[in-house]
Formats: sequence, structure tokens, C-alpha cells
Amino acid sequence: AELYRLESWSDGFFVVDDSGQVAVQPLDDSDLRFMIMDVVDEAIKQGMTLPILLRFQDVLRARVQRINHAFRDAIEENEYQGSYRGVYPIKVNQLQEVVDEVFDAGQPFNLGLECGSKSELIAALPYLKDDNTLLICNGVKDRTMLSLILSAQRLGKNVIPVMEKFAEFEELMELAEAADTATQFGVRIRLRTSGSGKWADSGGYRSKFGISLPELIEIVEQLKKLGRSDAFVLLHFHLGSQITNVQILKQAAKEISQIYAELVNRGLPVRYLDVGGGLGVDYSVDNEEGAIHYSLQEYANAIVTSVAEVCDQRDVPHPILVSESGRAITAHHSVLVVETLGAYTKDRIADNFSPANDADDTVKRLAALHEELRNAKPGEWLASELLEAYHTIDATHRDAATMFRLGFLALEQDALVERLYWSICSLLLQHLRYAAPDPRPPEFIELEEKLVDQYLCDFSVFQSVLDHWAIGQAFPIMPLQRLAEKPTRRALLVDLTCDSDGKVSEYVSSNEDKSFLELHSLKPGEPYYLGFFLMGAYQDIMGDAHNLFGRVGEVHVYADQEEEGNFWIEKTIPGIKIQDMLAQVQYFPNDLQRRMNELIKAKIEAGEIRPKRGMQILEQYLACFQQETYYDTRRTNEVTK
Ligand code: PLP
Repeated sequence: AELYRLESWSDGFFVVDDSGQVAVQPLDDSDLRFMIMDVVDEAIKQGMTLPILLRFQDVLRARVQRINHAFRDAIEENEYQGSYRGVYPIKVNQLQEVVDEVFDAGQPFNLGLECGSKSELIAALPYLKDDNTLLICNGVKDRTMLSLILSAQRLGKNVIPVMEKFAEFEELMELAEAADTATQFGVRIRLRTSGSGKWADSGGYRSKFGISLPELIEIVEQLKKLGRSDAFVLLHFHLGSQITNVQILKQAAKEISQIYAELVNRGLPVRYLDVGGGLGVDYSVDNEEGAIHYSLQEYANAIVTSVAEVCDQRDVPHPILVSESGRAITAHHSVLVVETLGAYTKDRIADNFSPANDADDTVKRLAALHEELRNAKPGEWLASELLEAYHTIDATHRDAATMFRLGFLALEQDALVERLYWSICSLLLQHLRYAAPDPRPPEFIELEEKLVDQYLCDFSVFQSVLDHWAIGQAFPIMPLQRLAEKPTRRALLVDLTCDSDGKVSEYVSSNEDKSFLELHSLKPGEPYYLGFFLMGAYQDIMGDAHNLFGRVGEVHVYADQEEEGNFWIEKTIPGIKIQDMLAQVQYFPNDLQRRMNELIKAKIEAGEIRPKRGMQILEQYLACFQQETYYDTRRTNEVTK
């Protein structure tokens, strides 16, 4: 567990059980736990195939509660006079079951929703059964969207469109005038404070969004002219996701509080102060861009105390605090379970290899070195000698390639050179572990990188962990079983896509070198499952259909101590079928069948294939339409003799 830094990212939801398996401990008020492997086995029994995304719905609920309790405690502790109301930004994970669960868990805390587009608005509106429930509408809004928002307001719903641009404000006012209706809105301020980390450009003067201070003054003046000052109810900023430094958040909260105080003193009835998203999730990465250096309670305290301080100084009422945390609510609740399909190590030579008399000289020289290194005791060779040997065999390896190209080295001899080279590299690395001084020489790092195994895994980086490919976000990955056993392999995880970027190139681990993951060697006939953790935020919806690998299957799981294994599966959703993936790029079954049929018929007519065999091939082709897009490990559908 320590190797994979489980304790630092799991937030207490995942633990390693005495059985050496990863268990889920999803409830805050109980230590009830169940094994992820048991859930996977049960899902497979119910007909699901891997990869599978497991959703632990209790974890979602626990996160909603923890965030609300942190604000409640900060408010009590600091005698803050206003209240706190979170809104869940559905862009982070729009799946209906996720929104339902978050919304339901949030009801005791008055949790509302946030939408950022027309489609999201349409999904979110029906949740507003209670007129008091907040719906904040961010994003660029066209007339259709603004009109629908006005209509929802006319229904008495607490919908607040947030003006991202001055022109949007003008359009809203024009539509409200034309409909002769009252309205309410908020303004996203382009603060001078900007965030830090990978998403920093969402705030500050370079931000794509927001209203500048001169524009804000213009809005206030226009509202006065129109006699609609009462419409301005909310001020908002968003520093970008994953705020890394709480001091920056404090600065931003103070900056917006000054603006709030100014507006209140000018007679505008601003009630809500919306601090946006950005509450960090600790993925336990060490780099400066990604590390989160504060706790949830520290985050809530920072906002409450900063706003209170400015409001007290300026003698204005404490506003209702709103935050739009998404990642921090959803990240922990889902785990992608992936099966390893094979491990590819560099070719090695047999330990007792001795070259034939007529072997090429290069083979003989390498074999002698191999023998010598194999028999040397740890520490017997000095680091300088080992490095020199490495330089020499590296040159020999290159020379052999040239000789082969020019026809001076036979294929079998070249293959022996290859095996000997990798075996010697491995021995050199073992000896260097004893002999190399700190800091490790570059050759040492090069050897480590060269010698990692490739573990082929049944998933697509582009579909399931897009942020890893796009912005280098590292996600915690670890085996779900055999954790009582020391891992002996260094692995690079590669996916099914035909793309050299289809791999995981940075890992969360306690090793200084994050370019590999320590795993167990695979045992024939025994599946080896890996869990990709903290998958619940953004990854599902941003997934891309590279190579037509599509949405993976899902299993929704709840804890229940009355059930065998302490859990029950509420729902399974199979992964997308090949037929549906193809339809997204305009291939349809009837047309494909007709064209395939023509192609086979031509062969039958030419007498190259028997009609019965031709029809079998057509059936085999058509049966694949109903398959899922990933590697099928079940060994069905094999070619008939
Ligand atoms: N609010 C706005 C306006 C956003 O753009 C985002 C996403 O970046 C969020 C809230 C959610 O942020 P997070 O997932 O970091 O909580």
C-alpha cells in the first residue's frame, strides 16, 4: 500500500485488507468494508466484461457530506453570519445516476446545481422541484438559453445566470424588457488574482471568461438607469480546477469581497458570493503543478475567514457563500478495473548459454562478459567498471545492427546478440544498484527505463484517462490483489490503441522514479486486475473514441452489511457495442451487411469459396456488431474449422 501511496490519496475510502486485496470502506459512520475483487467477480457473473467502471455510490454521498460539514464547522467556528450552499457543477460528471445521488445526498444541506451549457441546463432544470434550490448557469449563453432561464425564473425557480460577457448582460436585459418580467443574475468577475497549477488560466486577466471592473461599473450604471438594480444578486469567480495554494484562494476571496462590499454600499442587493470550483483532490503527485497542500477544512476556513474579515472591515452583511466543487465531490467514487493481457519483457539468454565454436565473434565476446557478470559477487565490480562495460556493449549492439544491415551478420547470430545485450543490461543494473554513487549516473536511469516490462492492458488511455494523455495528470493505479506479496517487476502500462501515446507514462508511487509501476509477475491462467483510482471527475465525459474503443461497462455498487460480501449491485450498464460505435462515424449495419455480402458473393461466384463457408463468414462478421469494443478474454467466437 505504501508503494502506491494509498493512504495519501484514498481519503480513507480504500484500504488494503489482510487478505492482500484492496477493500472499499465507503461509510463515514461505520468501518464496514468489502473487496473490490468480489464486486468484479459478481459483475462478471452477471454478464459484464472488463474493463469496468465501478461506482461506489456511498462514497459520493460521503464526499458531499464531508464538504458540507467542513463549511458548517468553519461557519460555526468563526461565527460567520451567512450560510453556505454548495452547487454541483454537472459538467464534472453528468451521468444521471451520479447527479441523482449527489443531489439527494445534498438535500439536507440545500445543495443546488450548476450548468455550463444549454444541454446541461436542460438536464438540470427538472431537479428544481423546490423553488429555493439554486441553479447557477455559467458558460456562454445564446438567446435560446437566456430565454429558457427567464422562463424558469417566471416559474418561480431560483435560477441565476452568471454573466460571462458584457454583451450577455445586455441581451438578458433586452429579453427581460421584451417579456416584461423581473429577472435575477450574477456576474463572473475577472479577478486580478490568478490560480496556480495546470488549470490556472481559468482565472486572472488571461482568462477566457469574466467581466472586468470597468465593465462592472457600466453594468451597475445601466441597471440604475433601467430601474433594475434588484436583479444583481450574485458575484462569482473561478480560479480554475485544482487550486494548489490556499493563499491564492484567500487573496481571491478578499478581492471579490471588496467588490461585494462596494456594490452593497451602492445599494445593490447582492446576496450570494460564489467562489467557484477548484477545491483540490490529492492525487498524490509530487510535482509543483499538481500537489495539493491543504485539507478540506483549511479550504473552507480560508473562504469563510477571508470573506468575514473584509465584510466586517467594510461593515456589510456576511453574504451566503456558494461554492461549485465538482472534482472534490466525484473523483473518489469511481474505480476503473482493467485486466492485464500480457507482460512483455526484453528477450533474455539462458543462464547456462555458451556459444557454439563457429559463433560470430561479437556473440562470443558478449557471452564471455555475460558469464563474468553472472559470476561476480555484488559490489565486486566498481561503478566506473560497470559504466565502461555498459558503454562498450551499447556500441557493440549498435555495430551488430550495422553488420546485420550490410549482410555480415546472420539472422540467428543477430538474435543471440539481442538476447545477450538485454541480459547483460539487466546484470549491469543489478550490480550498479550496489555500486552506483548518489546521485545515480544518467546511465543508471537509462538502464532502468530500458529494462521495464510492458504490461498490455485492456483499456484505452484516450477513452478512460484522457487527462493523463492531454495534460499529464497522474492517477493512482495499483493491483487489486496479491498485495501481501512483494512485486518484482517494473512495468509500463500500455493500452489497446495503435498509438504510441496510448500508455501511462507517469505513476503515483513512493519511488523517486515515477516512470514505472512495480507489479507482480503474471501467473498463467490467473487474471491480474489493476484498479485505476480517482476516476470520477471529468474522465468519463471527456473520453475520446480513438480506434473506436468506446464507453466502458459500469457497475453501481452500494454497501450493505446484510448482504453476503457486504455489498449489492444496484445496476449494471454494459459497455457500448461495436454497432453503436460505428454509427457514430456513419457506418450502419444494413449497409455494411449489404457490402460485405456483395464481396463474399463475388468470391462464391468465382468458385473460390463454398457458399456454406461464405455464409458462415458473413454470420461471423454480423455477430461482431453486438460485441463490446474491448479485448474479449472469454475465448468465445473462435474461428470454426
Ligand atoms: N465552476 C466553473 C465555472 C468551472 O469552470 C469549473 C471547472 O473547472 C468548476 C466549477 C468545477 O471545478 P472543480 O471540479 O475544480 O471543483
